[in-house]
Amino acid sequence: MAATRAATRVLVLNSGSSSVKYQLLDMSDATRLAVGLVERIGEQTSRLKHTCLTTGDLREHSGPIADHDAALKAVAEELSRDGLGLDSPELAAIGHRVVHGGLFFTEPTVIDDEVLNEIERLIPVAPLHNPANLTGIRTAQALRPDLPQVAVFDTAFHTTMPESAARYAIDPKIADRHRIRRYGFHGTSHAYVSRETARLLGKDPSEVNVIVLHLGNGASASAVERGRCVDTSMGLTPLEGLVMGTRSGDLDPAVIFHLARVGGMSMDEIDTLLNKRSGLFGLCGDNDMREIRRRIDEGDEEAALAFDIYIHRLKKYIGAYYAVLGEVDAIAFTAGVGENAAPVREAAIAGLAGLGLAVDPVRNAVRSGAPRLISPGSARVAVAVVPTDEELEIATQTYALVGKND
Ligand code: ADP
Repeated sequence: MAATRAATRVLVLNSGSSSVKYQLLDMSDATRLAVGLVERIGEQTSRLKHTCLTTGDLREHSGPIADHDAALKAVAEELSRDGLGLDSPELAAIGHRVVHGGLFFTEPTVIDDEVLNEIERLIPVAPLHNPANLTGIRTAQALRPDLPQVAVFDTAFHTTMPESAARYAIDPKIADRHRIRRYGFHGTSHAYVSRETARLLGKDPSEVNVIVLHLGNGASASAVERGRCVDTSMGLTPLEGLVMGTRSGDLDPAVIFHLARVGGMSMDEIDTLLNKRSGLFGLCGDNDMREIRRRIDEGDEEAALAFDIYIHRLKKYIGAYYAVLGEVDAIAFTAGVGENAAPVREAAIAGLAGLGLAVDPVRNAVRSGAPRLISPGSARVAVAVVPTDEELEIATQTYALVGKND
């Protein structure tokens, strides 16, 4: 009987400003039961896409979904149709991705009023993300007030960075007053991938130094020393660091003064330019690496230059983090570009034989969803492709926190 079964399911919610991504997992064997996405919340053209993985059923609905409350209710309904409803006693908890946990949250945390207040206090440093995450949490709480809700923070893995890496070289009194420091993001992915890379090498995470390159639409690198993050490329916000799909990454801060004083742009316009209209998209009009590679193959010079700028920055971070770590056991490529774009991996590692780094072209060309080595057998440093799984990591961390009581 269902009521006597242990509560082993975790619903993972990733709430954006106009979307909710979700996965329902059974943590007794880490299997996925259902996955889905609600997009364009608040518009006339909202869409819900739901897949039940136990039956293979795929359902799609289009039409207005007014707000997050309506979105989550629609998700709950879909799950119920599959016999996986949120009222099930088998549901142990809801795990929420929360982008900014500041310095306060170093670990996944069971959400109470105080936790909600602190996530709210961090809104000035995460104005786009934390409000949406909060809405998702409050909506889920209203739906199942009795159920533990856990916040898993993108920043948490990076809270081990030493002050020398986390501080900007500005007056600390001003920095502290405004909570300005390097927080880093994608932490759930960096934590998962660095651990999985150690596993691929047959080692414990505490035995290896890994450079993780999370290359999705957003992109970040991290230096992980014996399981602990010691540096990462994103900073106060996800704008710093690598060239991304639409973000510029590093640039001289004076570019901003220049655009304001000489270019006559407002702060909001500059914010939009650097976050939404820069990076690969700003450079060549495309932010999808597949399209960029296709254009390069056709001889498009604009796309080729965008690719070169992307690779140059990536290479600089590999070199920087090699120096930060001193000794490196592995470099792991992950996320949409890192997992799929063999030319990016090849170009990023090219010419680094002096650092013990090489890519085997045959291994690099293999397409697979499994963690794998792409360096030659003789290489001093392993180069790996390690698919990320942020939802599984959020579910694992959530279940580790609440599952103990079962
Ligand atoms: P997000 O940051 O949105 O989570 P993902 O990690 O899903 O991003 O990565 C999305 C990006 O991955 C796309 O914009 C595209 O550039 C890249 N990508 C996805 N599939 C491929 C592929 N087969 N080859 C090259 N690039 C790919």
